[in-house]
Amino acid sequence: MSVSIFDIINNVSSAGWVIVTGSSLAVVFWAIIFWQDIKNRSSKFFLLFSFVVFMWGSASVFFNASIGTPFIYKAVTILYFIAGFVAPTLFLAIDAFSNRESRSPFKKFAIIFGPYFLLSLGFLKPGLIVGYEHFAGATDGRIVFGKFFSIYIFYSVILVALGVRNLVKKYQESAGIFRHEMRDFLITFIVAASVALAGTLFSPIFTKNQDFFWIGYIGGALPFLVISGLIFIKYSFLNIKVIATELFISTIVFVLIAELFLAGSPADLVIKTSITIIIIFSSSFLIGSVRREIQSKERITELLVDLDRISRRLKVLDKKKSEFLSIASHHLRDPLTVIKGYSSMLLEGSFGEISQSVKESIEKIYTSSGHLITMISDFMDISRIESGNMKYVFADVDVKKLVVDLADEMKQNADRSHLAFSVNVDDTTTVGGELFVTVGDAGKLRQVFSNLIDNSIKYTPKGNVSVLLKKSHDGKKIIFNVFDTGIGMSENTLGKIFKKFSRADGVSKVYTEGTGLGLYVAAEIIKKHEGRIWAESEGEGHGSSFFVELDAKR
Ligand code: ADP
Repeated sequence: MSVSIFDIINNVSSAGWVIVTGSSLAVVFWAIIFWQDIKNRSSKFFLLFSFVVFMWGSASVFFNASIGTPFIYKAVTILYFIAGFVAPTLFLAIDAFSNRESRSPFKKFAIIFGPYFLLSLGFLKPGLIVGYEHFAGATDGRIVFGKFFSIYIFYSVILVALGVRNLVKKYQESAGIFRHEMRDFLITFIVAASVALAGTLFSPIFTKNQDFFWIGYIGGALPFLVISGLIFIKYSFLNIKVIATELFISTIVFVLIAELFLAGSPADLVIKTSITIIIIFSSSFLIGSVRREIQSKERITELLVDLDRISRRLKVLDKKKSEFLSIASHHLRDPLTVIKGYSSMLLEGSFGEISQSVKESIEKIYTSSGHLITMISDFMDISRIESGNMKYVFADVDVKKLVVDLADEMKQNADRSHLAFSVNVDDTTTVGGELFVTVGDAGKLRQVFSNLIDNSIKYTPKGNVSVLLKKSHDGKKIIFNVFDTGIGMSENTLGKIFKKFSRADGVSKVYTEGTGLGLYVAAEIIKKHEGRIWAESEGEGHGSSFFVELDAKR
């Protein structure tokens, strides 16, 4: 009776097809994982192991399909020869998995595979390790185990046991996420290995056939490959979406290639081959784009996380800066106030007459300490505004009284700068126009008006500075206006002066000590009063006019 390989293929049971297809997909799965990072040793050894498992499964299918044919004698030898590679490759995979940093020197290979190389010589003599004998007069028979089979078993079992020992040791040593990974892997391994060993190794010893191989294989070996692959993906932070896409496409390609073998005619074969090639090409682009998209998404997520961390850090630093500024400013301002106070008393003659030259020097001390105090107060205000600690005490404020009182003080500054200074209150325009009451923080409003008048004096080399207080036509608004015949402002300057640290270009020639903070603070204060502040100017050299508009209380 002549039996061809096709007769054997026809004999393959459905469990056999599940084994072949399932294990090929397991190889594809591990190939994809390996493809994500080809330098990774553990995925490399797992790929090797999955391939050996595939060969082993195919050999068993071949064995079962060969029962009753002359091939059976070879089939049993091939099956056990290939099965002998399962334990050593599994050991290598586990070893690489549990000792990721260790290298795999040639010596390790020699120690692991060396004994098997010698032992496998025993396969040359049928019956020494395994053999097959027919029942008299029947087509089937049974597997017979030879003298060396116990060595064969010992070799495989000892390697599996060493693998378990490695895993347990690594589990005990490891911590954190690595410990979780080892635990998951160990559980999978113990459960799967028990099922696989029972079905594929021990069951044939008792039954003398491979009838239960599929249980050990489909219930143990294949799930082990799949679950350990998933664990690997999870803990190596590989992207499951990319892998799923690749696996999906590989399955399609796999099916298409299988279809090629079923082609009915040459024309059918050409069409199917073309379709397969087109799909392989287009899917490689698809995978590429999925990869790129995921990579860029991951990059964006990383950047967002970085940005969030940096912004939180910056906020903390900014708060610390404001606190520091506030403390430092306090310590600077207090002694300066004393200096200013004493120089003022000296100038007033509280300590007796002083000569003209001393008086001039003390005047300089007085003015400079005044500038410094203003500057420091601005800094303190900035730190308060930025840390949200600017305190306001709102009450009824008589703006007219406030401006008139202030003007008296400011007049002295204007006199010192040889400028004409005038204050006018227009209380005739509306009914009840004589009342200039608003709800606000008197101290803060005083600070704003004083700053605006002070600026006009500073930036007016000659001419006059005038203050006008009036009400809007409907009587609902109080309008404070200070205008001067000073250096004026360009369009560009007008657009920026209310911003922090903003000064006109070249203005430091007129007034060196400025910080560009006063108007920013003023704008912040007026904002809190729900009022408006703005500036107007006909241009450089044509004077400036500043306005503050507040709600009038009725
Ligand atoms: P500082 O006076 O300390 O520079 P401010 O915030 O008070 O800071 O003013 C910002 C800028 O606005 C000044 O540097 C100046 O360029 C411009 N400015 C303010 N007031 C006047 C004014 N009355 N005339 C011309 N320019 C002015």
